[in-house]
Amino acid sequence: MTRLRLYDTLSRSILPLVPAHPEEFRLYCCGPTVYDVPHVGHVRSALLPDLLVRRLRAHGLTVKYVRNLTDVDDKILARAKQRGETPPELSSKMAQVYQDTLRQLNLLTPEVEPKVSEHIPQVIALIERLLAEEAAYVQPMPGGTTDVYFAVRSFAGYGKLSRRRLDELRAGARVEKDDTKRDPLDFALWKGAPEGEWGWQSPWGWGRPGWHIECSAMSHAHLGHGFDLHTGGMDLIFPHHENEIAQSEGAFGGTFVQRWAHNGFVNVDAEKMSKSLGNFVTAADVLARNDAEGFRWFLLTVHYRGPLQFDTETLPDGRVIFPGVCEAERRTDYLYAALERLTALAESAGDAPGRTAPELAALEDQRAQAERAAEAALDDDLNTPVALAALGELARLGNELCDWADKRRRQPELLGAARPLAQALLGSLTRVGGWLGLGHTPAPTYRARTRARRLAVRQLAEADVEARLAARAQARAAKDFQRSDALRDELAALGVVVKDTPEGQRWALEV
Ligand SMILES: [Zn+2]
Repeated sequence: MTRLRLYDTLSRSILPLVPAHPEEFRLYCCGPTVYDVPHVGHVRSALLPDLLVRRLRAHGLTVKYVRNLTDVDDKILARAKQRGETPPELSSKMAQVYQDTLRQLNLLTPEVEPKVSEHIPQVIALIERLLAEEAAYVQPMPGGTTDVYFAVRSFAGYGKLSRRRLDELRAGARVEKDDTKRDPLDFALWKGAPEGEWGWQSPWGWGRPGWHIECSAMSHAHLGHGFDLHTGGMDLIFPHHENEIAQSEGAFGGTFVQRWAHNGFVNVDAEKMSKSLGNFVTAADVLARNDAEGFRWFLLTVHYRGPLQFDTETLPDGRVIFPGVCEAERRTDYLYAALERLTALAESAGDAPGRTAPELAALEDQRAQAERAAEAALDDDLNTPVALAALGELARLGNELCDWADKRRRQPELLGAARPLAQALLGSLTRVGGWLGLGHTPAPTYRARTRARRLAVRQLAEADVEARLAARAQARAAKDFQRSDALRDELAALGVVVKDTPEGQRWALEV
């Protein structure tokens, strides 16, 4: 038992997560079909298990996280033909892009990432078991090949996850009546293919597995029957997850999986998007414009079950931006600025034990309260918007403390009291950030990385900015304030914000 409560799609209620095996929590997530580059929907469906694993680990559980790669599919075959590649060449390339993208977004790598192509014997064994249980039948096809279908009427619980009745489903399916199946709802476990086409040998001849069977076979191979939690996008509830239940419970009886969790859709402002980027936003589209951590922050601003709205805006210079992600990136900047200031304060010299100040006691209370709020929100069905607000509040408290300390540079006895609070705030930011997967980059690395991208996006050279800054410093030294102000305005027009500090000019690029 953990304190974590999660919405279960099957029972339609929020329930505590109880691992069947106390030593290990077992989690399966449906991964992508790797025939193209990942889009925002793929990233979002990898985020739900990532947050769960972080939460469960924070509660002291060991988690076995399995996320499959669908590398056998007709879409892969068709796309590979178009590109003049073999299906395995295409799918391994796309799997690599997917994994690299997720790593950039600090999405946890699963313990196992099974591929269908490496589980054909397990798929065949499961189909044989379903045939033995009379939950499936072999169907010769007109072209001389043989298919195997799951007999939906053999499974009394069919429709329980999506809460659909069989007769309703049948009425819908009748439109695409298919004489090769006994029931229009029956679905393929094995699709025969002509020899010479991409495929594998099976007891029913040459062919490839149907889509749904792989997740039943691979979850069973790596997590066993009755594992703890299955996740995926809401679009997979029917038919994919309904079919997984039918296959696994049809073959092994009992309960396939204890809990189901599904993430919401990603909506794109289609009209605007179609002009510039096509009909969906790829992860690469976002990462070309925004930092990976800002992108992750944006994804967390919405509860995982709600729809994520992706808007675009075209700037006067023709650039297309994602305003929501830009706003999230500004918040990420603020987080890193607070982390950097707090680190400097925590490490600052002069460790006089110090006098306590009442303002600091109040800040300490607010710190503890914000951390508790983040923890409670995440334990309550992964309420990331509330946890993000608490992270923002901790960063704000950090800045407040640093401002307080800046005003007392000449009072070491007071600074001494500020240092333990700076350390405590850093601890809270690290913990809450860790639960959300944010704030893990060293601040100078984050600054350098975002500066490089923002320069590139604006097609600006760092040397050009530096030259203008040097000219401005010269103008200031010569007390030519008209010229120095003009240079500052020029820089501002380029998105460069200049701050004059005792150490000279500091500059940053706006998101
Ligand atoms: Zn699946």
